Amino acid sequence: MRRLEAEIRHHDRLYYVQAKPEISDREYDALFDELVALEDQHPELVSPDSPTQRVGSDLAHDLPEVAHTIPVLSLDKCYSPSELVAWLDKTVAASPDPQPLSFVLEEKLDGASIVLTYEEGRLVRAVTRGNGAVGNDVTANARTIRSIPLVLAEAVSLTVRGEVFMRRAAFEAYNTASGGTYSNPRNLAAGTLRNVRSRVTAAVPLEFFAYEGFFADGWGASHSGILARLAALGLPVNPHGVLVSEDATLISVVRKDLPAWRTASFSELQNIVEEASFGRKQLEYEIDGLVLKVDGIARREILGYTAHHPRWAIAVKFEAPEAVTRLVSITVQVGRNGRITPVAELEAVALAGSIISRATLHNEDYVNQLELAPGDTVAISRRGDVIPAVERVVEKAESPAEGGLVWLMPDRCPSCGSSLEKRGAHHFCPNRDCPDRVLGRLIHTTGKAGFDIDGLGEKTLSLALRLGLVHEPQDVFTADWSSLIAEEGFGEKKTAKISEGIRQAKDRPFAQVLASLGFENLGPSLAETLIKAGYTSMAAIRERAAAGDVKAFEGIHGLAEITARQLVDEFSDPRNAAMLDALAAAGVRMELEPASAGESLLQIFAGQRWCVTGSFTRYNPRDLAMLEVKKRGGVVVSAVSSKTTHLLAGTGAGSKLDKARELGVQVVSEDEFVALLAQ
Ligand SMILES: [Zn+2]
Repeated sequence: MRRLEAEIRHHDRLYYVQAKPEISDREYDALFDELVALEDQHPELVSPDSPTQRVGSDLAHDLPEVAHTIPVLSLDKCYSPSELVAWLDKTVAASPDPQPLSFVLEEKLDGASIVLTYEEGRLVRAVTRGNGAVGNDVTANARTIRSIPLVLAEAVSLTVRGEVFMRRAAFEAYNTASGGTYSNPRNLAAGTLRNVRSRVTAAVPLEFFAYEGFFADGWGASHSGILARLAALGLPVNPHGVLVSEDATLISVVRKDLPAWRTASFSELQNIVEEASFGRKQLEYEIDGLVLKVDGIARREILGYTAHHPRWAIAVKFEAPEAVTRLVSITVQVGRNGRITPVAELEAVALAGSIISRATLHNEDYVNQLELAPGDTVAISRRGDVIPAVERVVEKAESPAEGGLVWLMPDRCPSCGSSLEKRGAHHFCPNRDCPDRVLGRLIHTTGKAGFDIDGLGEKTLSLALRLGLVHEPQDVFTADWSSLIAEEGFGEKKTAKISEGIRQAKDRPFAQVLASLGFENLGPSLAETLIKAGYTSMAAIRERAAAGDVKAFEGIHGLAEITARQLVDEFSDPRNAAMLDALAAAGVRMELEPASAGESLLQIFAGQRWCVTGSFTRYNPRDLAMLEVKKRGGVVVSAVSSKTTHLLAGTGAGSKLDKARELGVQVVSEDEFVALLAQ
């Protein structure tokens, strides 16, 4: 009987926790039936944690109130990816330790929160969240949930927080069979978890994900480490976690024990949140947001708590203020890089202080998921500064307006007629000379995110494009704008203003020039990153790119491989090269400007990775030494590895010094460092 219990528990874990069953349902049932038969013959030998003891009871039990033994905190909230990024920046800035902060991004499941207590590996108590201080004991019900292990892989004592939830498909099936009384999986999960008859709970296919662990033998060094330990014990951990750090390459080395998790750099966070927000309807279960937490447990304690929330975590919620209006039609928009975005043309409606008549539909899959057709009444939302989005259909149109029931992505680009290409979830117009793409590039070049040229707005650019005055971004600098005087509404004053704007644009800071090029992902922050890494001239970047040197860009602190590859592709593209030549010839700044505000330090440490250890007489705290390295283009790392180029060793340097000598890393003393800085 004990052997069968262990075997069934093993297969339960494979099936419910890892979703990798090794035997068929029939084989499993045979094992289970054999155990039931033996238990019938020997009821005195039935163990309380036997897998057969998950069927629940028809007897009504009460749900006594129990005080929580661990902090059951609620989180601070925000409603947009940009607010989340702002929170991250603020948290990083508030953290005085020179060790880089890293974060964990997790899905916020829309279910019922629960606290499980294991003693020496056995589930002894399950309590609802309640008011955070006191919850209801629902142990009998929790025991019927198959993905909550009754026995852990090790006899450890711990408390686990997690979410009880239901997959959409299971909800639909159950709700239909039971007469459709529940409006959503969350209500059913929460109601079932608190049912006074555990046999009722057992009949509902509830599931569980663990998201926090408090071990009796200490809380562990990092949140991700704790989750990895929970997974190893047989507790289900959501596979969609992301480890977010300033430098994604560093952390991927650290966390091999959460194999399904991804890593990302700070600069990718906003994108990930936006994608998750749009993609959440494709998940098998419902989430209402994401949670970003500081990974290091000691760092959390330093950051501390407000009266209401921890300072080391925040939830970004997807549901934002909404408005309801009617969908008039669906059009598509062609971006400067060719991306095709379906756009909802709406009856104008007020939302969060502005009038909205258009909203993004992201991509074809999103429109299809919504089953959207013109005439439908839809709910739209605006999340912070993000463009408004259509959230859902409130009511289908009785008789569909023209365009029919199903919307289809056109086969051809609405602007140039080229066949569209599908890459990932998005469609693209591959034609670089597509009129919409050309205009889009011009608008970017002269707009606020580009050279920010006075007097060159969309209207003027469209006209100039039509007249053949401009086509490529570089034409903005060489066009004879005075020829516009012949056009209606263009006087000498106006064209003179444009010329003056262009004169000033040539003198923009190098970082702004880089961001103005319109290359994939090359915005202000990546431009700064490149410059800090020593790429202080266009020639230097182009030389690397021409050599196809993805590795060199990848070595830059905080750059992901995909971004490095995009840089190589963009800078080595022949037409982009022609643009860069033309911009240079027109007198646009092609290298870092002489520093203005005393930041004119030679980037003598560019391309180097420095580790700093020990204590110093001149640099106390040693952050000051790290700052000197960073100001001169070097990257500061927290551990010595084969990638480290220099170790700055003060007095009392220990294991890092040994490691550096072992790896042949150049060791620099404080005096030598001072001499280097003086050069
Ligand atoms: Zn096109």
